[in-house]
Amino acid sequence: MSGPDLAALRASAHVVSIPLNSPFRGLLHREAVIFAGPAGPAEWSPFVEYSDEEAARWLASAVEQGWNPVSTDLALPTTIRVNGTVPAVAASEVGALIEHAGHPRTVKVKVGGPGTTLTHDVARVTEARRALGPTGRLRIDANGSWSVDEAEHAIRAMEHLDLEYVEQPVESLEDMVDIRARISRMGIPVAADESIRRWSDLDQVIAAEACDIVVLKVQPLGGIRATEALIQQAEDAGIGVVLSSALDTSVGLHQAGLLQARREAAHPDALDAGLGTGSFLARDVVVEPLVAHGGHLTLAPLELDSSALADLTAPPERRDWWLQRLERCWGLV
Ligand SMILES: [Mg+2]
Repeated sequence: MSGPDLAALRASAHVVSIPLNSPFRGLLHREAVIFAGPAGPAEWSPFVEYSDEEAARWLASAVEQGWNPVSTDLALPTTIRVNGTVPAVAASEVGALIEHAGHPRTVKVKVGGPGTTLTHDVARVTEARRALGPTGRLRIDANGSWSVDEAEHAIRAMEHLDLEYVEQPVESLEDMVDIRARISRMGIPVAADESIRRWSDLDQVIAAEACDIVVLKVQPLGGIRATEALIQQAEDAGIGVVLSSALDTSVGLHQAGLLQARREAAHPDALDAGLGTGSFLARDVVVEPLVAHGGHLTLAPLELDSSALADLTAPPERRDWWLQRLERCWGLV
């Protein structure tokens, strides 16, 4: 592979800090390095608490995107299917949120965690089902917040709502195995999201038979080629795949979106992707941000927005922090 050297990476790097529309994982800003690569823009945005070893995988993804992209025979623009998201709001707000999102066919509703109760969760998911109608696809995501007993109780209370799947109902792998066995009679698939953080996690998840579906994120897994290998591994084990974002800017969403487009072309029944997260950012780094409407996201060739990059430039001490991280991680790619 003909890749960049560190000097080329540094020279093409814009370190940005993007305000979020609402807090995410306690963050008010999303920091990212956007490279102007010879093959196009590339994103490197491992969360700040991640180790250099993990962040190096994310960097491999950026190098693939900007220097060694997967050649696709896709004609751009093209459109992919994504889910809408309903955060842990009051049930009375759900209808308006789904309408504002243009009535996507698939909606993911957040459940569990601080600030909500089972009663509120059931009311919110019930309202989402009402707004979607009987043919809509309804996913719930607890982000690992339930105990096994709480999860079983909650899923039973929503069993009649025709759930497409339950994402990360509990945190640990052992608990995932346990809850999957407890609800097997209901026929509701269990999806693993936080269980898959590192490339090697999929082996353990498959070996433990901890889920029916895995949520895979292209950037943390090291790019499209690496993710395709994991998709193959999952599907060989009879496990379904949902592609999702890591709160990427439109640059990272575009890369994952290309993989989703390939999957939809090959498998018309591919599960809708979790790539409609561009609206979580108050601003973006490309001329035409990837913001979903009606459950669709349009992928056009990416063009960096130079004035947005200038406006979003991170403070000097954060830029230095990222460039030092880049140097350390480059030695690990
Ligand atoms: Mg999730």
